[in-house]
Amino acid sequence: MTALVIAEHDHATVKPATLNTVTAALACGGDVHVLVAGANAAEAGKAAAQIVGVAKVIVADSPSLAENLAENVAAQVLAIAGNYSHILFPSTANGKNVAPRVAAKLDVAQISDITRVDSPDTFERPIYAGNAIATVQSTDATKVITVRTTGFDAAASTGGSAAVETAEGVADSGKSSFVGREVTKSDRPELTAAKIIVSGGRALGSAEKFTEVMTPLADKLNAGLGASRAAVDAGYAPNDWQVGQTGKIVAPQLYIACGISGAIQHLAGMKDSKVIVAINKDEEAPIFSVADYGLVADLFTAVPELVKAL
Ligand SMILES: Cc1cc2nc3c(=O)[nH]c(=O)nc-3n(C[C@H](O)[C@H](O)[C@H](O)COP(=O)(O)OP(=O)(O)OC[C@H]3O[C@@H](n4cnc5c(N)ncnc54)[C@H](O)[C@@H]3O)c2cc1C
Repeated sequence: MTALVIAEHDHATVKPATLNTVTAALACGGDVHVLVAGANAAEAGKAAAQIVGVAKVIVADSPSLAENLAENVAAQVLAIAGNYSHILFPSTANGKNVAPRVAAKLDVAQISDITRVDSPDTFERPIYAGNAIATVQSTDATKVITVRTTGFDAAASTGGSAAVETAEGVADSGKSSFVGREVTKSDRPELTAAKIIVSGGRALGSAEKFTEVMTPLADKLNAGLGASRAAVDAGYAPNDWQVGQTGKIVAPQLYIACGISGAIQHLAGMKDSKVIVAINKDEEAPIFSVADYGLVADLFTAVPELVKAL
């Protein structure tokens, strides 16, 4: 029984979501291999070989894998899938783009967003926006799994010494082509990797106020910036800041929710944070039911005061 983890990487380094996925793969009980499918990705392969618990790294290098096109990455996974009992992807935008293609081609049911491995064929996953946990058993020969990274500790990124092999890279599928990419450049920690997140809701009232009030707090704490869907939909914050059921699932050490009501869809994305602080002027707001520290106050006064005190 051997599990294959599909690395999330930028060809030079391995992204943190890979480390949590390795932990989930180790819990499946057998050896763990990591696939680095990229172009000139030897450095990422070396980094993957350092992850504790990984027995082997397979680097598939091909120009067709340079832009992470899901069609090509899925073909690369399928080229070696026959050797594995479990194929695990981090439940990131990339992982969720590739995993269903692999599952469909293997004619197996994907097991999505697992938060626990009970046994090699039985897994737990949240349903109904995290209000219930389903235990699912798969009888498929190959388990194709996406892993909710907040459900598993990160494997140590250094200290391992896995063997590195190369595999022939797949040819371009011709089904899609890379046109361009607009990447937001930010010095802030990425939301899913941030240790501290400060998040703003509809109460901020405008994009200008969002920046004026929330940015100084994020700067002081070297925090990632998050937002509720209402704030994103209203254009106060960019789409990739959205935390929740249809946004990012985060579990930082500290999550500060400012002017966020705490709808279940928002809680689904942040309630596993270690310490939750809520600032809301309505003492009945549901966010207080998950908050470790609550401040009933007007955020336009409380947040600047907090910044000053810090
Ligand atoms: C299928 C589906 C998926 C969804 N996915 C998501 C998701 O991923 N993420 C998400 O966030 N939502 C999601 N939602 C939307 C969710 O239901 C809520 O509508 C949304 O989270 C509300 O955002 P909010 O708390 O910012 O706004 P509101 O609910 O309007 O709350 C604003 C809060 O600010 C407080 N407030 C107002 N003024 C001040 C002030 N001056 N100082 C302090 N507090 C103040 C109010 O008391 C209130 O509690 C989803 C909904 C659906 C149906």
